[in-house]
Amino acid sequence: MTDFDYDLITIGAGSGGVRASRMSASFGARVAIVENSRVGGTCVMRGCVPKKLLVYGSHFADDFEDAKGFGWEVGETKINWPKLIKDKNTELDRLESVYGRILRDNGVTHLQGRGRVVDGHTVEVETDGAKKTYTAKKILISTGGWPSLPDVVGVEHAITSNEALELIELPKRIVIVGGGYIAVEFAGIFNAMGVDVSIIIRAGNILRGFDEDVRDTLADEMEKKGVHIHRECVVQSIEKSGDGFSVLLRENETIECDRVMYATGRKPNTKDIGLEQAGVELTDHGAIKTDENFQTTVSSIFALGDVTARIQLTPVAINEGVAFANTQFNDNPMVMDYNAVPAAVFSQPTIGTVGLSEAEAREQGEVDIYMSRFRPMKHTLTGRDAHSMMKLVVDRASQRVVGCHMVGDDAPEIIQGFAVALKAGATKAQFDATVGIHPTAAEEFVTMREKLPDHDEDV
Ligand code: NDP
Repeated sequence: MTDFDYDLITIGAGSGGVRASRMSASFGARVAIVENSRVGGTCVMRGCVPKKLLVYGSHFADDFEDAKGFGWEVGETKINWPKLIKDKNTELDRLESVYGRILRDNGVTHLQGRGRVVDGHTVEVETDGAKKTYTAKKILISTGGWPSLPDVVGVEHAITSNEALELIELPKRIVIVGGGYIAVEFAGIFNAMGVDVSIIIRAGNILRGFDEDVRDTLADEMEKKGVHIHRECVVQSIEKSGDGFSVLLRENETIECDRVMYATGRKPNTKDIGLEQAGVELTDHGAIKTDENFQTTVSSIFALGDVTARIQLTPVAINEGVAFANTQFNDNPMVMDYNAVPAAVFSQPTIGTVGLSEAEAREQGEVDIYMSRFRPMKHTLTGRDAHSMMKLVVDRASQRVVGCHMVGDDAPEIIQGFAVALKAGATKAQFDATVGIHPTAAEEFVTMREKLPDHDEDV
């Protein structure tokens, strides 16, 4: 039998790769992980974590305003953006070292450099021009994704979320192209920081794929806060103009701004890592094809996380890593369940959602819809014109709650709990039998009694 250097070599030390590696090592496998950038990957270094820190930071703008409604005399406030970015980076450094320690503590060897698959059992690692090869019984690709920008004249002037998290100075005006997770989250951050924000979307509304009432509510609330949403518009070109840029739309409108940011999706990192030569098949969109055990078309090569473009969410990649390690190195086959994966958007206000949108549920059968729109109690004193929306989608035949959606403060925190109920197959009667916690927004989910009159959602 061939003697391999390792049982597993993982390429890519993001959330999925790190979890898969350290769990495999904890089950006794000899594991190495190759990373050419920082340990922690997109979520920790360029995504969820720094973004959420900036969301927290930006929230104080509303908090200072709202405090006045509760008798506080708030003096002059101003954001020291460079300090926020510096402190955020210090925290990322700390997290990077924590990730490194977790790998070390679990006996995972960290190979710093760029990993390339040579064949089904060999990985080449290039560090500062020097190349070294290692062999492994199994190879795991978890190289994540990278912002994808369309081919538009002048697009080289645009930044992506990577650079937006590192801006040394706040722009006065920013144009954000795209209406997905990243666009609405950064629109919220910049808007709260006093930047004039314009979002350009080619569709009629933001957040395609989300429940229509969620989309409408968030768009309304964002517009109330001053974000300009340019619907059904396409960027024709971006030109440098003085210190800023002119964004010319096909609709013959020009928007002047200091920064242009693209948030038009992310593509899997599958280029130049030897996959095609090794025989690993990709989808038309460049994602790695795998079966339910994360096995690619080469039996000893596996892939998970964003590079497979199933559901591009950190907790999904982490759970995939757990399933992979258990199946491959713990004699405990686990298959990832992609049903009812909850999601949050850290927009302002936030979104929490789990299960089917009304439109998706209607495709499967008849539904009962319960919905509540209200002004949160806090704003009775702040005077802020802000509304929350909560919605339950119930399968009429079984009376199971198949969708639970919220736009409003703390929605992600609230929906995490309701996701357990949905996963457990809770019925509307069981929601009704649950006593509310008063006074909260969350109690609305267990006190909604009036069905909406039958209506066909306009999708
Ligand atoms: P999304 O897929 O969420 O959104 C992409 C947006 O870009 C859509 O509005 C889409 O429009 C638009 N778009 C795509 N191509 C073009 C084009 N050629 N011209 C103009 N507009 C275009 O991608 P994001 O980049 O926002 O985020 C990537 C992924 O990262 C998300 O899907 C999500 O899985 C993950 N993420 C998760 C977060 C969280 O959990 N809170 C936070 C941030 C990211 P249309 O609707 O018309 O297709």
